[in-house]
Amino acid sequence: MAYKARALVTGAGGFIGHHLTRHLVQHGYWVRGVDLVPPAFEPTRAHAFEQLDLRRWDACLQATRGVDEVYNLAANMGGIGFIEENKAVIMHDNVLINAHMLEAARLNGISRYLYTSSACVYPGYRQESPDAAPLREEEAYPADAEDGYGWEKLFSERLCRHYLEDHGLEIRVVRFHNIFGPLGSFEGGREKSPAAICRKVALAGPNDEIEIWGDGKQTRSYCFVDDCVEGIHRLMRSGFRDPLNLGQDRMISIDELVDLVAEIAGRPVKKRYDPSKPQGVRGRNSDNGRLRQVLGWVPRVSLERGLELTYRWIEEQLRRQGRLAR
Ligand code: NAD
Repeated sequence: MAYKARALVTGAGGFIGHHLTRHLVQHGYWVRGVDLVPPAFEPTRAHAFEQLDLRRWDACLQATRGVDEVYNLAANMGGIGFIEENKAVIMHDNVLINAHMLEAARLNGISRYLYTSSACVYPGYRQESPDAAPLREEEAYPADAEDGYGWEKLFSERLCRHYLEDHGLEIRVVRFHNIFGPLGSFEGGREKSPAAICRKVALAGPNDEIEIWGDGKQTRSYCFVDDCVEGIHRLMRSGFRDPLNLGQDRMISIDELVDLVAEIAGRPVKKRYDPSKPQGVRGRNSDNGRLRQVLGWVPRVSLERGLELTYRWIEEQLRRQGRLAR
């Protein structure tokens, strides 16, 4: 069979990497998936899957052999609680992965290399109120990124830029804004807010309270994973080499997010706020002007539809585990 190209997806055992692998296979690519672990909830769709530790130089050389394109998603990361408490290990692991992956891609003659960065690169001083203005790509500087995780992402973005300038490596850099959907972690500390809220609502009895981190007024935008993988694929095919936001530009508060999930679940929930828990920046949204201009496309799945699919999937997982009374 003739494939469009041979692609490597790192982090293919993780949430976005698993969805991306399926998307690329469906679109005619031969895909090698690499991760420390296989996907948690269903078998990989990759043609080949190798369990490798990409902090190691030899593993990066092995992973990048014989492929045309690299989608580098592997990272040690998690929700806000995890990234606040694990700064040293996150910076250590991710800088090793990203430095070794770029050099291995160069040596193995990779034709295109996509790096997955984050909205956490944006400065804290632009995100101090719940109605903070949407973030434009050039506003990452002067830098004041999220401590630990965000600084490493910003450093690795710059390393990509220098591999382009000094070595001619064809790079793409995407900044995700809160990606969510089925087949992602929903407990254990690495889950993000939409999955955590879906789990809490699904498990709550009629008189139970849902714990909300912070005062519930902090805002974010949320992008469904199908849009995310389509955006990644479109960016890789484009000729655009500067960082690009990939997210929705509908900003809502955590309180409103809980209300939406409760509506989907079909029952009211009682909320209890815990201001001692980490809540990240006060307000964050994506400016999608450049995304629209560069790709001629923006994410399309509504938050309601995405949450419905995610809630039903998490509910089903909990039911299978025998944890739902209903
Ligand atoms: P995830 O944690 O589900 O996937 C990351 C994968 O990388 C995991 O399966 C993990 O096992 C793997 N990994 C970690 N260390 C590794 C190592 N040493 N060698 C090989 N594999 C290793 O996370 P995700 O949500 O799928 O995120 C994918 C990428 O997108 C990451 O780079 C992340 O920083 C970035 N990102 C995600 C979001 C989001 O909202 N999900 C937002 C911004 C940026």
